[in-house]
Amino acid sequence: MSYRGRFAPSPTGHLHFGSLVAAVGSWLCARHAGGAWLLRVEDIDPPREMPGSAESILAALPAFGLHADAPVLFQSRRIAAYDEAFEQLRAADLVFPCWCSRNDLAGGLHLDGHCLAAPQPERAPAWRLRVPDEIIAFDDALQGPQAQNLRHTAGDFVIRRVEGYYAYQLACVVDDAYQGITQVVRGNDLLDSTPRQIFLQHCLGLPTPGYLHLPLALDEGGRKLSKSEQAHPVDPTQPLPALRQALAFLGLPASATAETADTLLAEALAHFDPALLPHCSERIAA
Ligand code: GLU
Repeated sequence: MSYRGRFAPSPTGHLHFGSLVAAVGSWLCARHAGGAWLLRVEDIDPPREMPGSAESILAALPAFGLHADAPVLFQSRRIAAYDEAFEQLRAADLVFPCWCSRNDLAGGLHLDGHCLAAPQPERAPAWRLRVPDEIIAFDDALQGPQAQNLRHTAGDFVIRRVEGYYAYQLACVVDDAYQGITQVVRGNDLLDSTPRQIFLQHCLGLPTPGYLHLPLALDEGGRKLSKSEQAHPVDPTQPLPALRQALAFLGLPASATAETADTLLAEALAHFDPALLPHCSERIAA
């Protein structure tokens, strides 16, 4: 099967250094494998979105030499597909409605395949997936072997929220399959979501892609750079400095002579070997 990778930003702010690293890392892996690189805007969480963010990110990527091989997929237009996946899970009795509040669940109380609160027919429930007491294991192409018992970690997790929005985990799995993604390359902050996604793939009869979790760019305090906090935005009108820094972060020599983003990326690609990517997250200077 030919390689298909993707970059899947949430439109919660402008492109920042951390998401540029994920975009460049996924692009390099896809191009190195002679594969396709796709884009998906994960715009299914309106309360967290920033108006204009999707347009700003999509306009910035080509300025950094990152051109997608297919039209962008917007998750906000994929609700019917998530409804279908949800109905499939419901028909298989793999989900249950839950009225528990955050308070009810504070203190690590574990649901055991059913809601602990009294049903409240007048209020919409969240819907949770029943998870087994089983270890989900996978081999991350960079971080090595991983194993997680979902019952002991995530527990019966929400796949449709009280407000009716589908959770990231469900939408991501449905769309990775829909876009034919063979290798997911993304930031290490999502490493612990992966077992939930693999379990959902099993429930929905979808294939499991390969996974490679890149090191994270951290701020001076050791926290992940986050779009929503507007940390370290990158300037698409002057792409070379941030692109050089992103390549250096990924352990690549960045040509000092390249004059365009396209040539800088092409030269980096010639040196790129996924096996030589750095593993550990790193602080970057302000
Ligand atoms: N939308 C997520 C983010 O911006 C990334 C999802 C993924 O790559 O699976 O953090």
